[in-house]
Amino acid sequence: MSAVMITRKVRKWEKLPGKNTFCCDGRVMMARQKGVFYLTLFLIIGTCSLFFAFECPYLAVHLSPAIPVFAVLLFLFVMAMLLRTSFSDPGVLPRALPEEATFIEMEIEAANGNVPAGQRPPPRIRNVQINNQIVKLKYCYTCKIFRPPRASHCSICDNCVDRFDHHCPWVGNCVGKRNYRYFYLFTLSLSLLTIYIFTFDIVHVVMRSVDNGFLNTLKETPGTVLEVLVCFFTLWSVVGLTGFHTYLISLNQTTNEDIKGSWSGKNRVQNPYSHKNIVKNCCEVLCGPTYPSVLDRRGLMQEDSPVSAASAAPSSSSSNSSSSNPVPQTTVSTHTHTHTHTQTLYPPLHTF
Ligand SMILES: [Zn+2]
Ligand SMILES: [Zn+2]
Repeated sequence: MSAVMITRKVRKWEKLPGKNTFCCDGRVMMARQKGVFYLTLFLIIGTCSLFFAFECPYLAVHLSPAIPVFAVLLFLFVMAMLLRTSFSDPGVLPRALPEEATFIEMEIEAANGNVPAGQRPPPRIRNVQINNQIVKLKYCYTCKIFRPPRASHCSICDNCVDRFDHHCPWVGNCVGKRNYRYFYLFTLSLSLLTIYIFTFDIVHVVMRSVDNGFLNTLKETPGTVLEVLVCFFTLWSVVGLTGFHTYLISLNQTTNEDIKGSWSGKNRVQNPYSHKNIVKNCCEVLCGPTYPSVLDRRGLMQEDSPVSAASAAPSSSSSNSSSSNPVPQTTVSTHTHTHTHTQTLYPPLHTF
């Protein structure tokens, strides 16, 4: 029996090969593992809610109404930076199309010559010169591309990410070229918020203890103890993390490069991206140009899906009325064999 192929249009995000999840028809993109991200949300929203419920009414009356106002503004900024980091494309690089992968592998084999059986083939590396430094481009066996400089393959998301910094389970996404500055602003503002809540928790307890006594104060505001504990433990990790990223930004270096010691001098390679000037490095990382996503997640592509001839016949007559987005039926064609193709997934790939 011949199979009928129905060509239909789907959004490209539905066919992306990495381990990501998408919401809002491809507008929101995250890693598949999101448990720790929900914990982050719970800790931030929970601690701030306790602060607004137990401390803010007292502090607004006895100290200044500006205290809760500033806390709300800081909280909104933290949440905006967190969601901007978590929900965006970190800089995922498209995988090579099948014909591109075949061409690149043919080129590599031609360059390496015939490797005798039993011998390891030479590593797939290309050298490029950046600011008078030789930088190695490594071949990704999963994405079938020579990664651009500073890119790395995230094993959790299963994508190559440009200017890969690290995969952060707390934000539920990779941190890379397109969301690094928002990640940094998130850690910086969260540090300020934690210090702010911790300080005013202490101020609140001291002021109330003068009138009521210390133990009575703790009984009246049970949330305060919990807030002080959460803030105390968050403080060290978040402030430490912000300090570490400030140091990395001043050197124009990524966490991945720092862990690997890429520019530590052991390979006699200086960081070719550093301007040798802290202010210039900070300006480039935090205020440099933003980059568009190269995934075109919401673009449309055509997909052939096989259906049996019997079930296709009635549906083809009613296809004109069922033109709902995102999978309108467009054409019906008959093939003697079944196949799926994903050739129109990505824009043409640059060869490095
Ligand atoms: Zn890869
Ligand atoms: Zn990742």
